[in-house]
Amino acid sequence: MNIIMMGAQGTGKGTVAGIISEQTGWPQISTGDIFRKNIEEGTKLGIEANNYISKGELVPDTITVPMVANRLNEGDTEEGFILDGFPRTIEQAKKLDEILEQKNKKIDMVINLTTPREETIERILTRRVCSNQECKATYNLVMHPPKVEGICDKCGAPLVQRKDDSSREAINKRLEIYDSQTSPLVEYYSNKGIVRTEEVSTRINRLGLDVATDIIKGIKGE
Ligand code: ADP
Ligand code: ZN
Repeated sequence: MNIIMMGAQGTGKGTVAGIISEQTGWPQISTGDIFRKNIEEGTKLGIEANNYISKGELVPDTITVPMVANRLNEGDTEEGFILDGFPRTIEQAKKLDEILEQKNKKIDMVINLTTPREETIERILTRRVCSNQECKATYNLVMHPPKVEGICDKCGAPLVQRKDDSSREAINKRLEIYDSQTSPLVEYYSNKGIVRTEEVSTRINRLGLDVATDIIKGIKGE
């Protein structure tokens, strides 16, 4: 099954995508993670992308679209994939349609996560990520702290805060872009009848794990 994960920053999009990926074996393709790995390794793509990412701006399509197209050429996407962080604009959605059409594929499901804005800002500010690029585990100092402060439970590497998570300016910019450019995608895909919207919020005591569990049940037809 080919899935797009949607949701503003701090909704738990990456967490839900990760759980579904683990349970189904379909790879989680996170454009943000691919960029960060390239930045870490100092590749040409990483150096270019970092100019935009550090400011909270979108990386231009001339860089992002071919990167995703290449990733979708890899064999592990044959049975299915979970796109996490792409597409982010109607333009990117149209380009994705073209890429998939050439492969005789299509998107089967769009999972749209919603969370009250105050909650998402709080979550972004308290988010910590594993510095080991092969691990990339995500923690939250309030909701899901590591067992030992500052250390990843899974691999023992130090936890860090993403640069774009520590700058209020970058956070606001990203949320602004989400509202103006990314959220219209919900309507784009609703017209195709494939959107599943789920609220993730402590307010209703429903977190990413609950949502992921329900979605996996649905996929497995239980
Ligand atoms: P967040 O959703 O918290 O912004 P991501 O890890 O998804 O974090 O992305 C980090 C940054 O990478 C984004 O702010 C943006 O600069 C860049 N990026 C990721 N995906 C895309 C995309 N589809 N198009 C353009 N830029 C992207
Ligand atoms: Zn780790």
